[in-house]
Amino acid sequence: MTAKPTTPATLLLIEDEPQMRRFLRGAIAALDPPPYRLIEAATGAEGLLAASTHHPEVILLDLGLPDIGGVEVTRRLREWTRVPIIVISARQQESDKVDALDAGADDYVTKPFGLPELLARVRVALRHAHEPELRNESLVVVSGELKIDLANRLVTRGGEDVRLTPVEYKLLATLARNAGRVLTHQQLLKEVWGPRYATQKQYLHVYIGHLRSKLEPEPARPRFLLTDAGVGYRLKAE
Ligand code: CA
Repeated sequence: MTAKPTTPATLLLIEDEPQMRRFLRGAIAALDPPPYRLIEAATGAEGLLAASTHHPEVILLDLGLPDIGGVEVTRRLREWTRVPIIVISARQQESDKVDALDAGADDYVTKPFGLPELLARVRVALRHAHEPELRNESLVVVSGELKIDLANRLVTRGGEDVRLTPVEYKLLATLARNAGRVLTHQQLLKEVWGPRYATQKQYLHVYIGHLRSKLEPEPARPRFLLTDAGVGYRLKAE
């Protein structure tokens, strides 16, 4: 059991646009009681320094920074910390976003985003950060009527057993261990098929299709196995 934090979690926002910092500062302060303490940094270098001095629980990282780009900031952070990183990207930064996720960022939001969307991503990131690795294997992941019992390798839909092939199960279990978070095509391919298959996106599309036809009430309109266009897939969190 994880004890409820008595102090608000610290968020570090690394963002060069003053209006974006003002928006988040105001929006978080307006919540009662403010669930997070916000630390701000306006450049990549300031952000790296703030990360090492304040030890934030979550980092919100803009990709377009004036000094060190967000992808490089992600790489440098990952040399020493597993702190969840949520990337804030603009629409034209699609490939940077994927690079940041492949470099170890946990999730992303695309500008313009609403506060509820951002806070939902932060909650998922905090939940994963507080979950000890060992507990993951005994996790039962529920998404609607879909239930994935990782300890017993059992998948049920509306109480009925679903039979999956070993590869289908491995793909689903990988998504389930990261429920609510996006996993990139490359991350999924490496995890399920191995590093040599990192670019074989068609494998992934085929197996996601198999899983959807077995798990989704309407495979063409997925409710559990969601596509993040151009990025990857996520299993909807309860
Ligand atoms: Ca920027």
